[in-house]
This record gives sequence, structure tokens and C-alpha cells, in this order.
Amino acid sequence: MTNPPRPLPRLAPGAVIGMLGAGQLGRMTALAAAQLGYRTHVYAPDAAGSPAAQVCAAATVAGWDDWHALERFARSVDAVTLEWENVPVATVEHLRRFTTVNPGPNVLSVAQDRINEKSFVNALGIATAPWRAAASADDVARAVAEIGPRCVLKSTRMGYDGKGQARIGEGGDPAGAWAAIGAPASAGTPGGIVEGFVTFACEVSVIVVRGGDGAMAAYPAVENRHKDGILDVTVAPALIAPDTAAEAERVARRIAEALDLVGVLAVELFVTPEGGVLVNEMAPRPHNSGHWTMDACASSQFEQLVRAVCGLPLGSVERVADAEMVNLIGDDAARWPELMAEPGARLHLYGKAEARPGRKMGHVTRLFPRG
Ligand code: AMP
Repeated sequence: MTNPPRPLPRLAPGAVIGMLGAGQLGRMTALAAAQLGYRTHVYAPDAAGSPAAQVCAAATVAGWDDWHALERFARSVDAVTLEWENVPVATVEHLRRFTTVNPGPNVLSVAQDRINEKSFVNALGIATAPWRAAASADDVARAVAEIGPRCVLKSTRMGYDGKGQARIGEGGDPAGAWAAIGAPASAGTPGGIVEGFVTFACEVSVIVVRGGDGAMAAYPAVENRHKDGILDVTVAPALIAPDTAAEAERVARRIAEALDLVGVLAVELFVTPEGGVLVNEMAPRPHNSGHWTMDACASSQFEQLVRAVCGLPLGSVERVADAEMVNLIGDDAARWPELMAEPGARLHLYGKAEARPGRKMGHVTRLFPRG
């Protein structure tokens, strides 16, 4: 059942923003909302004691298919947004019967599935790595024969931080890779996508913000360095050729516009050795590679999301300093006394009790005079 979108209201401070998802992105959005005088009500199956619930005015702990709880939640807030793009589309469709939800279901159905995402981007004339859909080990072998021996097999859905991925090298084992990602085909998805392996010069991302009136702004392209498949360091701005940075921004703006996005979109790209860009993936929400904007820009990515979903004018993306953001993963967070004592270091901790390996516990941003 598809409902037409409701017109975006202009919500005055004091209004309540509904947030789907209860992690650190929801937490930092709720903090930005509070700074502007808004309250946040978080909804998630795992909201109890969560990073977001700790700083929100209200929390509902209920499933994505608890239609009554969703209706009560929708009727108790003035607009809904999300911090997790994998909220089921049916959940968002249900909420839209009662209130505005941005980004909307059309955006989510593109962003939730790597095949939809790459098809959408390619249809705009924007380049990605070569790719093929795969529903079986035979499909993977065929794709490798077509694309070339070095590939990456990914599950089409729910992959993040390098999870659900297997590399296939020269003389590699397509069947082993297929078994490793364990992504059986199901209704609506072949399960896997084989991508050509990109020998990139670096990885960058661009965060675009777009209001209900179509106004857009973009933060500069930043460089992202990963460790064990997880973002480790973001350098803002990226030290890349101005033409490459401009092309990355153009591509991100084009995608946000084509999606008719209201909110925040992060587009991750590979920079080729020749200075071209290939889109890797996107997320229609605040992104880890945009955390530096909290300390180094006039308005952060989180404040921009609040402004967009409340129907307010966007804030300034002006960068007042260059920045380096370092994630605190697992036990890294135990370094908090030293980081707190470091002059100029901006420490952000997410209120997570247990420091499991690979878990994002916080981040630290260091500022430098603008280059
Ligand atoms: P993703 O979940 O798609 O962002 O992938 C996680 C990381 O794996 C990326 O940030 C890259 O470092 C690497 N990666 C993903 N896809 C490719 C590819 N097609 N070629 C080379 N490296 C890749």
C-alpha cells in the first residue's frame, strides 16, 4: 500500500521528532535537535538503555511490525526520521498514514539493496565498479569469468562495515565465496552481487543535505581510511585534486536530487589512480564520515537532518577548520582519560556499556587551521 507523501510541515522548536533506530547516529541527532529546542522520541526494538534513548525525551521499545505501537508512536510525534536505512519499507509506509517520514520509502528501497543502488546510480550515467547479480555459486563463477578474476562478492542486503563480503582473487574459489557470505536468494533479491575489485587511490565520501524545498548543500569530500573493513580515520577535507573533489560532489548532489531526498545522504566513492570517481555505496542518513562536521562546521550533519525534516532552512556547511576524526572501536574507548586530557581533542562517547571488538564506542576529532 503506497500513500502519497504528506506536505512537509514547518515545525517550530518544541515539536517532537520521531527517530527510527536507537544507535549513536540517533543519539547525536537527538542532541542536535535538543540544541535547537526540539524533543526526540526514539523507536526501535532494541531502544531500551540504548545510546539514543539515554538522551531522548521518550523511547518506545517495539518491533518494526508492531502496527499498533507504530501508530501510537506516529500520533505522538510531529515528524519522523531515521538513523538506519534498513528499517523495513512496510514500517515506513505504515507510519506515513499518520505523519511525515523522511527520507521516504522510495529512498529506502534504493538504499537497502546493493543491486537497486547500483542500478539507480548507473541509470543516472554515474559510474560504479562493474557488477553482476548472483543467485547461486554458478552465477558467481559466471560473473567472475565476465568481469575478471579479482572480484568482491557481497550480500545485496544488510551488509555494513565489511560484513557479508568475500574477496575472490586470481584462481579464487567462487563456490567458497558464495558459501562464506551465506546470502540465499529470497523474494525480491538474488542474494548476492559480484563487483569488480577496484584498485583505488583512496576512498572518499560526500555528505549532501537536502530540504523539502529542494535546497541542497554539500560538505567537502573527505578521505576515509578503513581498518578490518571498519572506518578508522576520516581526513577532512580529502587531499585530492580539486577536479576529483568537484566530481565527487556533483555525483552526490545528482543522486540526492534524483532520489528526491529530504534529509542527509552520504555517498561513498572510490577515487581511481587517474582521478576519476566510482560510487561504492550510499546511506540516506548521517554517516560516520560526517562526524567531524560537529566540531568543524557551522552546522553539523545532525543539525541539518533536524532542519530538513522539520521543514526549516538548511544550515551553513561552512568549514571553520580542517579536521581528522578517529573512531574509537572496542577497547580503544578505554583510552578516554588520556583523550579527555589532550588539549583540543573533541571526545564523543556513545554511552555503550560493553566494548565488544568491532563495536563503535565513540570518536575523537582533532582540528587544524584551514589549509
Ligand atoms: P562496503 O561495505 O561496500 O562499503 O565495503 C567495505 C570496504 O571494502 C570498502 O570501504 C572498501 O575498502 C572495500 N571494498 C568494497 N568494495 C570494493 C571493490 N569493489 N573493490 C575494492 N575494494 C572494495
